[in-house]
Amino acid sequence: DAAVSAQSITKIFGPTDGGLRALDDVSVDIRANEFFTLLGPSGCGKTTLLRMIAGFETPTYGNIILDGVDITTEPPFKRPVNTVFQSYALFPHLTVAENVGFGLEMRGRQKKEIAGTVEEVLALVRMEQMAGRYPSQLSGGQQQRVALARALAPRPSVLLLDEPLSALDLKLRKQMQIELKRMQLETGITFVFVTHDQEEALTMSDRIAVMSAGRILQIGAPRDIYNAPANRFVADFIGESNFLPATVADAGSVTLGNGNTAPAVMPAGLEAGTRVTVAIRPEQIDVCAEADGLLAGTVAELVYFGTDMHAHLTLGDGETVVARVTARSEAALEKGGRTGIRFAPGALRVVED
Ligand code: ADP
Ligand code: MG
Repeated sequence: DAAVSAQSITKIFGPTDGGLRALDDVSVDIRANEFFTLLGPSGCGKTTLLRMIAGFETPTYGNIILDGVDITTEPPFKRPVNTVFQSYALFPHLTVAENVGFGLEMRGRQKKEIAGTVEEVLALVRMEQMAGRYPSQLSGGQQQRVALARALAPRPSVLLLDEPLSALDLKLRKQMQIELKRMQLETGITFVFVTHDQEEALTMSDRIAVMSAGRILQIGAPRDIYNAPANRFVADFIGESNFLPATVADAGSVTLGNGNTAPAVMPAGLEAGTRVTVAIRPEQIDVCAEADGLLAGTVAELVYFGTDMHAHLTLGDGETVVARVTARSEAALEKGGRTGIRFAPGALRVVED
């Protein structure tokens, strides 16, 4: 339950002049008691940032502040921070209870206190029935719960979780997402969670930092990031987006490829005539009769995915658009057929490239 702040963190591996710049002037303020997620593709620097909060790595430039105290050079064991990794790394020759209590013993806690804490955290991760088992007698999901219990046992102020669910199958992962969120709420510990899975980030987080190539591109609540992505990368990485070229008509609208004008959300100060890119979510597109459409196209592909369908449309200028089609409007579409499309209010957003 502590606030963590990374201030202008740069990390260069190898020679400072010409080495690999894994993080480039990254600043983020993580609030006490929040479920905060670092989200980005593989190699963007998530683990590196986490390791600097843990103390396994020192920044080349910048500072790590915990509750107002500069801990940049504090060794890991002196920080009230614990980490859960993707690999559970449980001791095979110790029982579940012994694994969970191990760190407490190292810290010199009393036997009775340890037993109480172990019982408590095993209940928290719903593994109280398994205290006497050995890791080899547990499923992958159960081992991950034990690893969580072990990390929570010393009651860290901050828990760092580096892609802890990525080894689990989809169904178990979804279940653990909900459980992790519950554990965070029940303990009040600040969680800093790392994932490359945008859906996972949207599901679990109070706030998300979207990272790319060693930088943070946007920080915000899941809804805010989804509804108002700061740039093209974020619009593309979080959820799905169509991108169309357009020209600014005035402060509130753009002209599309076929000459039609539509309302669009855009940053202030864009001059009429500026060439821009607009992002549009597939679910904010309605199909309609060709004559009623703001744009018209040919149905290239219909992709069924359970509740809904994606219609891939080819527009007159060769651009493609994916629209989400509900069961209701699906009957009107066939592969090779013509259709019109319209946009929900606020659907068009000018995004920075
Ligand atoms: P992520 O966790 O987002 O996948 P990492 O933080 O692991 O990314 O890595 C960011 C970049 O830094 C990558 O290019 C990676 O190869 C590089 N990197 C990470 N650790 C080291 C290291 N110890 N030495 C050299 N390069 C590293
Ligand atoms: Mg990583």
